[in-house]
Amino acid sequence: MRTLRDLGDLEGKRVLVRVDFNVPLEHGRVADDTRIRAALPTIEELRERGARLILASHLGRPKDREPELSLRPAADRLAELTAAEVTLAPAVVGEDVRGFVERLGDGDVLVLENLRYEPGETDNDPALAAALAELADAYVDDAFGAAHRAHASTEGVARLVAQRAAGRLLEREVAALDGLLEDPERPLVAVLGGAKVSDKLGVIERFQQLADTILIGGAMCFPFLAAEGHSVGSSLCEPEDVELSRGLLERRAEQHGTLELPRDLVIAERLEQDAEPEVIDGVDVPDGRMGLDIGPRTAERYAELVTGAGTVFWNGPMGAFELEPFAAGTRAVAQAVAAASGTTVVGGGDSAAALVRFGLADRVTHLSTGGGAALELIEGKRLPGVEALA
Ligand code: ADP
Ligand code: MG
Repeated sequence: MRTLRDLGDLEGKRVLVRVDFNVPLEHGRVADDTRIRAALPTIEELRERGARLILASHLGRPKDREPELSLRPAADRLAELTAAEVTLAPAVVGEDVRGFVERLGDGDVLVLENLRYEPGETDNDPALAAALAELADAYVDDAFGAAHRAHASTEGVARLVAQRAAGRLLEREVAALDGLLEDPERPLVAVLGGAKVSDKLGVIERFQQLADTILIGGAMCFPFLAAEGHSVGSSLCEPEDVELSRGLLERRAEQHGTLELPRDLVIAERLEQDAEPEVIDGVDVPDGRMGLDIGPRTAERYAELVTGAGTVFWNGPMGAFELEPFAAGTRAVAQAVAAASGTTVVGGGDSAAALVRFGLADRVTHLSTGGGAALELIEGKRLPGVEALA
């Protein structure tokens, strides 16, 4: 994969940078600027090298040119975070946009409008890719979160620009995840939770081959527990996930990694803030109750294994951590990951949100900004956005 080091002299050159400014908005402002900050190392390096920057990103899923999904708030936030002159273009491509590009000075930044205002973006339309390519002399992809999609602004345009490279963020993401998969310090412990087994099936299978220990938590443990014959009450547990889990458990003996399930649980009648939480010692959930967190004994066991690991990968909360009564298991795991002396890699949107909530986001070796892309890389899939940078 080519990186910024391979781009050579950029003085006065127009560089199209695919960034991931798909940020949450509230009242027309950026509610969380993590993704904008994550792009700053690449933006500042290119500016220092005298480039003229054209930034492109998608935001949400506009069906039309919905003004609520303009990149205006992201451009405004970027302007606060950099000393650069930041301008918002009136569209993604076209005559007007070319005029804005021509007026750029060295180190200036032009932010294109929401890429998904153009239907050709998600279709990987060659005409849109060509129009984007025409704007610039060089192309940099720093949008790891979009690297698993072959879109016009990722795969399409990269194939058309000879001078192309991965940005710093994309480079760091791929290096951290490759390091985890290729030659991890052992023992490698994977902590996997979250909502659904079917979302994470490929990741669980890969870690059954690679990891020494796989610790299952979150709603995802119930299909496994059901497959083992336990009652799950009204916990999240879909029949097809029970079948998938049964298959994973049956193949367990042939796999390298040992898979552990919770030994105790926090249950309640409903997934609500004022529901009365109850700890059960065991994993049979009575009728009319749902499992909403791993229990304290399980949390202690998982934390201990994380502490002793050479490498930890964590994806998926251990419970419904958004509500305080069901946050203890996720907090215990997050604290163990933060305190672990081994290499720690965390992926997944909600897992990242949990780390932020507990004030631990800067205490891990690598916090991935790309949920789906990180999981696909772990599954062993090739990311079109990365392949196109070869
Ligand atoms: P990530 O985004 O980190 O990959 P997921 O999207 O798979 O994680 O799952 C996160 C969601 O799963 C959270 O919103 C959390 O509340 C929910 N969750 C975890 N455990 C449970 C549970 N036992 N019951 C209901 N929801 C749960
Ligand atoms: Mg999620």
